[in-house]
Amino acid sequence: MKQDILYIVIPCFNEQDMLPITTATMVEKLRQLTAHGLIAPESRILYVDDGSTDATWSLIEQHSREGIEVCGVKLAANVGHQNALMAGLESACSKADIIVSIDADLQDDINVIDLMIEKYEHGCDIVYGVRRERKTDTWFKRNTALAFYKIMQRLGVKSVYNHADYRLMSRRAVSQLLKYRERNLFLRGMVPLVGYRSECVYYDRSERKAGQSKYPLAKMMSFAVDGITSFSIKPVRMVLSLGIIFTLIALAMFAYALVAYFTGRAVSGWASLIMSLWFIGGCVLIGLGIVGIYIGKIYIEVKDRPRYNVETELFQ
Ligand code: UDP
Ligand code: MG
Repeated sequence: MKQDILYIVIPCFNEQDMLPITTATMVEKLRQLTAHGLIAPESRILYVDDGSTDATWSLIEQHSREGIEVCGVKLAANVGHQNALMAGLESACSKADIIVSIDADLQDDINVIDLMIEKYEHGCDIVYGVRRERKTDTWFKRNTALAFYKIMQRLGVKSVYNHADYRLMSRRAVSQLLKYRERNLFLRGMVPLVGYRSECVYYDRSERKAGQSKYPLAKMMSFAVDGITSFSIKPVRMVLSLGIIFTLIALAMFAYALVAYFTGRAVSGWASLIMSLWFIGGCVLIGLGIVGIYIGKIYIEVKDRPRYNVETELFQ
């Protein structure tokens, strides 16, 4: 049986401290997988240098000279983790049968790659690496992550809880993913849209071994807002509902103000003011909501996502 070629895609941004450790660990893993006959000897580690300003690229060059398992793509400027990962998937897609994406900091347990490949062999196109517990994270990070996941779910965005960008994808899943031509990438939300058979593998996440996290709080927040606004038009629809609610309140205020007016409890001018206040507020929000719905449609059209994804075909 011909073995499948595995590419491990690793985006790197200023990871000079991590890179020697990562390369040593990954090369060993790759050789071990090859020795066990799980993958083909042509399998590679593919680093994507996301416009690093330190020695990252020269280290990648050096490592690739030392061993054939390492190859690299250097991006001309820093474009962020998601775009760098997409660049890696795109260049690996033509060469690999299976692609695993993982961060350079080795926080994710590489030993579950065996399990991922096993699931792939059993017909899964996507295998998500899921963190079992978040013991190493702070209370704040754990709970904001949970809240974010819950909000996404409410807004109708499918994603896997506690899964970051550590996953295995088959070549056909990646080539389908590449058809999503949008600019604002949120891969955790996009991959489930591909829709092939998928499963999860669970692991414990450890601490970053060297270097600094490139995701400080501000960047995390903007990533979360990006995730929501790149996937859901529900927030715009909420404006319309709010407008309708305000108009209904205006009706109630209308009755209340009339009663107050005729029983003489109202100061002169109050009744007309309060009625127009709620009513105009409601009208403005309804107007905004309607405009928003059209903008929501434009947003979906502009994304130009594939309409469907064929899983199997039977022709006679
Ligand atoms: N990364 C990248 N470009 C960026 C920021 C980060 O390619 O602009 C890479 C980084 O080198 C690492 C991965 O994305 O391999 C995840 O980053 P990090 O570990 O700092 O994030 P955290 O795990 O703290 O969320
Ligand atoms: Mg990390």
